[in-house]
Amino acid sequence: NPAVDHPLLDGLNPQQRDAVVHEGSPLLIVAGAGSGKTRVLTHRIAYLLSERHVQPQEVLAITFTNKAAKEMKERVDRLIGPRSRAMWVMTFHSACVRILRREAKRLGFSSSFSIYDQADSQRLMAMVCRELELDPKRYPPRSFSAQVSNLKNELIDYDTAKDKAQTHLERTLAQAYATYQRRLTEADAMDFDDLIMLTVTLFQLFPDVAEHYRRRFRHVMVDEYQDTNHAQYMLIRELVGLPERLTVDGEPVAEGGGVEPAELCVVGDADQSIYAFRGATIRNILEFERDYPQARTILLEQNYRSTQTILSAANAVISRNESRKPKNLWSDQGAGPKIIGYVADNEHDEAMFVAQEVDRLADDEDVTPGQVAVFYRTNAASRVFEEIFIRTGLPYKVVGGVRFYERREVRDLLAYLRVLANPNDTVSLRRVINVPKRGIGERAEAMVEAFATRERVSFWEGLRRAEEAPGLATRSLNAIKEFVALLEDLRGKELKLSELAEEVLASTGYRTELETSGDPQDESRLENLNELISVAQEFEEANPEGTLVDFLEQVSLVADADQIPEGEDHQGVVTLMTLHTAKGLEFPVVFLTGLEDGVFPHMRSLGEPRELEEERRLAYVGITRAQQRLYVSRAAVRSSWGSPAFNPASRFLAEVPSDLLDWRSDPQKSAWTAATVRETRAPAATSSRGGGRSIPNLSPGDRVTHDAFGLGTVVTVEGVAEKAKVKIDFGSGGEKTLLLAYAPIEKL
Ligand code: ATP
Ligand code: MG
Repeated sequence: NPAVDHPLLDGLNPQQRDAVVHEGSPLLIVAGAGSGKTRVLTHRIAYLLSERHVQPQEVLAITFTNKAAKEMKERVDRLIGPRSRAMWVMTFHSACVRILRREAKRLGFSSSFSIYDQADSQRLMAMVCRELELDPKRYPPRSFSAQVSNLKNELIDYDTAKDKAQTHLERTLAQAYATYQRRLTEADAMDFDDLIMLTVTLFQLFPDVAEHYRRRFRHVMVDEYQDTNHAQYMLIRELVGLPERLTVDGEPVAEGGGVEPAELCVVGDADQSIYAFRGATIRNILEFERDYPQARTILLEQNYRSTQTILSAANAVISRNESRKPKNLWSDQGAGPKIIGYVADNEHDEAMFVAQEVDRLADDEDVTPGQVAVFYRTNAASRVFEEIFIRTGLPYKVVGGVRFYERREVRDLLAYLRVLANPNDTVSLRRVINVPKRGIGERAEAMVEAFATRERVSFWEGLRRAEEAPGLATRSLNAIKEFVALLEDLRGKELKLSELAEEVLASTGYRTELETSGDPQDESRLENLNELISVAQEFEEANPEGTLVDFLEQVSLVADADQIPEGEDHQGVVTLMTLHTAKGLEFPVVFLTGLEDGVFPHMRSLGEPRELEEERRLAYVGITRAQQRLYVSRAAVRSSWGSPAFNPASRFLAEVPSDLLDWRSDPQKSAWTAATVRETRAPAATSSRGGGRSIPNLSPGDRVTHDAFGLGTVVTVEGVAEKAKVKIDFGSGGEKTLLLAYAPIEKL
């Protein structure tokens, strides 16, 4: 009935309309990038609420990031007004937290349990490995942490892991898993993977809980379904109340507690599956029809996002993958400009090219920096772009990377708040036990731990009863007593959240320490802490009833993409992010950088056909983010781990048909030529233009001239080659520390 006429169906093509109005059976929408999958989900929700008389609280829509959830909610709001508040539009993790908070007691947790992110769980695993006296060389805690995460994504608990273990390593892992899990429970904490796994467990152990949610959620929708892993897959099955996968003889196992299955609608694109390393499996999308026998599948083929040139490039690249269904994605937006290619001499030159091109686009084509995104393969690559952008005064924002919430000082303050909310949160407690330094050394900490273990009490209890712990030096004991008193005092205060945070910084001496240190880094640490306090203030304003636990939960769940600045044009600043973070987004202008074999595709994938296919999907994701203009670039030489790497051009470049590409520099430029240019000193005029330039050989006392700061005298030189840092006294301009490799300096 695509003929249905309704304002909510305006601006949709017939297939999209079909998908929006489809009723009854499970629905799969598979389609390439930019074909309106997310748009269909949004319109479908609006349509359900306004035409099918579905109540907002009956809708659960799962998105991949909180940012996507927020956007979807806003769009639904715009379509049908603010009735949508009771609707659950959120990530898997957020939905699970909500469910678990209500039901935590059934699983032996309090409703204010802590959430451990990846860094916390790695710390905990490191403690566990020490406790089990495992040699960190043979059994690296990080690797154990990752493997436990994989097991949880497969819904394998530690008993099963133990039963299945065949090698010594697997048995050791299972043991560490069991201990880790016990420590988590003692800390009243769940890690990210637990959030999903424990919700599945909850539904399986408590049919009444499962039934409650099945009655509630009559419509379940999932965006980016290709990136769900097994645990998430099972969670969806449990939620909609459909039987477990068919058994070997094809018999479905009945389930559902007598509730009619909910309507399920999932959308995805197998070509955009880029989270295999987190256990995501394309299988979930490829076998949807088998998993849900009455399912209907709708294909979308028109792309509304990109020019035909961009789309043809994307199609050409992805078609090299063998294990995929061919698709025919087209666009009626015309060819648009060609893709621009650039081979830089090195990564600084590459960043400089981007900066200059953004300026040029602003001058010649009215493109604002906010319409531009720069993508790279790994987080670390952002640094060079940041340095160049700062130097050239180009406003930018990094999404992901060393994220705000991963900074040491931010984590410290949060750890204090977490301890105040949950004294049993041992990881947080031990993080701050001697921060700032208060004379509780590692030895004292270990003694308390041993005491607590022997007495079978939590670490916090151990601290409170430290007097009974044998062997503690009086000085340590006094320090511990003061620390306990400090926390109890803070806990007893009736303060608003932001005031509490402020009070923590004051009463622990944390703020004073930073203020008086004289280390310039500490200044930015203070800024970050103030930023966190404003986050708390914003939270208070938005959630007058919100508790400390609510706040910590919100903070724990912010995903990378949440840090994209708000507003239509991303606040007029260039967005820098990894390809993974770019999923689902779109930008008028995209720079795809680091297209070198060994960088992108990632070193790890070379010679691994399956991983190479995943890298190619990542390239497909990257290319298809671009609406109008796409740039592809590589560097002939790139410093990697402190030494120059001469990477060949990415194979993905060769896969883009050459008539779609317009090279701004010699596409054949090789590492060899670049290296030569580097040796032979190029004139200063080309230096800031990104032409080849050698690094001047400087020593203290040398006189130099800098493009911006003028005349100066070298004070110190540290490090060598690409890494060399030089401190220069520019007289009234002050002292500056610069990276020699690309500072526009001439030796006089
Ligand atoms: P991705 O695979 O990257 O997640 P998608 O399939 O979810 O992409 P959307 O983000 O929903 O695609 O849509 C891509 C762009 O095309 C958006 O700007 C959207 O508003 C627009 N669009 C989608 N369908 C239509 C349509 N029928 N008419 C006009 N514009 C559309
Ligand atoms: Mg989408």
